[in-house]
Amino acid sequence: MSFKDLGLSEPVLQAIHEKGYKEPTAIQKEAIPVILDGRDVVASAQTGTGKTAAFALPVISILQKHSSTRVLVLEPTRELANQVAEQFKMYSAHTDLRIALLYGGVGYGTQREQLMRQPDIIVATPGRLLDFMQQRTVNLHCIEHLILDEVDRMLDMGFFDDVTKIIKACSPTRQTLLFSATMPDSIRRLISWALKNPADISIGVRASPAETIEHCLFPLDPLQRFDFLVALLTQTEFKSLIIFSRTKLDVERIARWLEARNFAAITFHSDRSQKERNEALAGFRSGKYNILVATDLAARGLDISGVSHVINFNVPENPEDYVHRIGRTGRASSTGQAFTIFSADEMDRVLAVEKLIGRKIERRKLEEFPYRSTPLLEEKRSAPRRRNR
Ligand code: AMP
Repeated sequence: MSFKDLGLSEPVLQAIHEKGYKEPTAIQKEAIPVILDGRDVVASAQTGTGKTAAFALPVISILQKHSSTRVLVLEPTRELANQVAEQFKMYSAHTDLRIALLYGGVGYGTQREQLMRQPDIIVATPGRLLDFMQQRTVNLHCIEHLILDEVDRMLDMGFFDDVTKIIKACSPTRQTLLFSATMPDSIRRLISWALKNPADISIGVRASPAETIEHCLFPLDPLQRFDFLVALLTQTEFKSLIIFSRTKLDVERIARWLEARNFAAITFHSDRSQKERNEALAGFRSGKYNILVATDLAARGLDISGVSHVINFNVPENPEDYVHRIGRTGRASSTGQAFTIFSADEMDRVLAVEKLIGRKIERRKLEEFPYRSTPLLEEKRSAPRRRNR
């Protein structure tokens, strides 16, 4: 099936052609015809599967020409909002549609100007959008297509009430498209309240890593984590690499440890200002830094092409975050490797990840590393004697 068969408009097909996409991805094949038909959609898909284009392409095809504000896309973070707005701009390059990007942490001036220009599409984070609604600078009555992206993340970040208020302000006859990696009860309730008879689209096994990612675990004595990280980096041929850790403090410590050993590393977490976060991402994208050290703030959705490796300095608390973290590599059919360092006290978290993805993750030993104790490559709880073989 080609993009032409999906019923997209000519200007959109032209933009896809220029972008060099050869054929639609699985979620695009499923979602685009349903969205063009005007139906509500609930979709879950693996990360890096072309989810953004799956909603942006049909919506731009339906809008066709500039008139009034008809599309609202809600995103959990500023970075995601920025990325999605960029994709909308790219896919609508051969139309006269206008896009406004609204997020917090920066002044109101430029964003207000964008709203004065009557954008057709608004991409926003909930907090800043509500500010503009309260100031009556924006009115959502004429929203015909509401896209709620990364909803589980949005609710995890405490945006439930904000999202509810925003949905209520949109036209009741709108089309609603909801994307979420997981579907806890709170989201199911939101779906039954905010969507009408939605088509349910699920691509592949939910919450499983892309097949293009090779991933493994390195068991380790916790005292050796920093030395091990340096040894792992030295033995790995990487182009660009993201190191994830649970806390901001860890992230800063890792970056300092690496800088002292002449690695080009930059940090990304919520205590850094928006300007610093933008600069970190820009520096990482351009290759000025080939290592980004980040908290889970960077785990979801960030689309940075060419990330060859991900290292988890520790196992994430939430098993879904494992899938999101390692999904920063192996994007859009390129291959990637993901390594996770873990110590015995994190075994429950490892088991939770393995339960979620439905299989055991390979344990490996790093050659020539001076291990303090024999790494636990085979843990068999019922046969403890085999452990030390
Ligand atoms: P997303 O899942 O929306 O974050 O997209 C992941 C990446 O896939 C982005 O860099 C897109 O530009 C790219 N992409 C989207 N659709 C296609 C396609 N049909 N063929 C190749 N790459 C694509």
